[in-house]
Amino acid sequence: MSDVFYRPTWVEVNLDAVAYNIAQMKQKLPSDSSIFAVVKADGYGHGAVKVAEAALQAGANALAVALLEEALELRHAGIKAPILVFGWVAPRDARIASEHDITLTFFQAEWLREVEAHLNSKELKLHMKWDTGMGRLGIRTENELKSLVEALQTADHINLTGIYTHFATADEDDLTYFIEQKKRFYHLLSVFNRIWGEPVDIHIGNSAASIRFPEKMHDFIRFGIAMYGLYPSQDVRNKQLINLKPAFSMHSRLVHVKNVARHESISYGATYITDHAEWIGTIPIGYADGWPRKLQGMEVLIEGKRMPIVGRVCMDQTMIRLDKEYPVGTKVTLIGKNNGDEIEMDEIANFLETINYEIPCMISERVPRIYV
Ligand code: PLP
Repeated sequence: MSDVFYRPTWVEVNLDAVAYNIAQMKQKLPSDSSIFAVVKADGYGHGAVKVAEAALQAGANALAVALLEEALELRHAGIKAPILVFGWVAPRDARIASEHDITLTFFQAEWLREVEAHLNSKELKLHMKWDTGMGRLGIRTENELKSLVEALQTADHINLTGIYTHFATADEDDLTYFIEQKKRFYHLLSVFNRIWGEPVDIHIGNSAASIRFPEKMHDFIRFGIAMYGLYPSQDVRNKQLINLKPAFSMHSRLVHVKNVARHESISYGATYITDHAEWIGTIPIGYADGWPRKLQGMEVLIEGKRMPIVGRVCMDQTMIRLDKEYPVGTKVTLIGKNNGDEIEMDEIANFLETINYEIPCMISERVPRIYV
């Protein structure tokens, strides 16, 4: 999508908030723990390059993404910091990673052997992934670990620089499963330490684990959702261990305002019927912008007052019941602060019965991001 935009619907990303959130986290971390700023999925919908630059400036030491494409986007933007790719990358593409000094994740001996055949003389850095209970990517057993280490010992141009695991329930009050994952991790680590002589970076913590157990995070934390100013869960939020500032807000403007007579219907399916003569405003945002139909009934803010979305959300437009007539051009806040009230990301997530992570990710690139 072009950088020029004309539509009066936009996202504001507050990069000072990103810096603030990193500073809050750094205050809690021991000085020998570093930070991966997790900027996968276009920086959780905030804009990967801008967030990465702000995060590095604020003291993050490295970046993490899910895809090789995302890592290359950062390199092409001139970012020189270390970058780790969390996801599986095809062996034939490992050479592109090595040429751009991008670290890949691995967990298969066969993958290592294939990768070797594709590399040139440039070294490829790798982090080994251990699946201690997430059930997603990584080795699970001692035998798998031993065969990976054997494959590494004979591999050329490959440098093991890190080991990591990922927690499934670090954001929950009940720590039973978290403790079980840690137990499995430290068992594998004791085996690894017996058969591998070189030092490697160890990282285990996402935002939730890092906020709760900052002293126990080893060499790096992988700081994602909290860097954007969102709490990993209500359980973590309730503990008040860290103060975060949300970086993302979304706004639009009334493009049409009309008085609709009593018993008239609004939008597709005629699901909303006016009770009496009502002021109805239209804003140019819809499900093609990642503002889903299920948000019918959710509220927006105008001049600090809450007003409901009425009728079905369309592909490009949404209608609001106004408390009075407002001029065309009046600002409408869909996420964030407006004149003393606030619609938090969590409120939208609760309304949609999902988690806050999903909301900025789903706001499509059709909505321009403005950096403030
Ligand atoms: N580490 C890995 C492997 C991840 O997949 C993610 C995100 O899902 C993170 C860290 C960051 O997690 P959070 O956003 O909860 O901090």
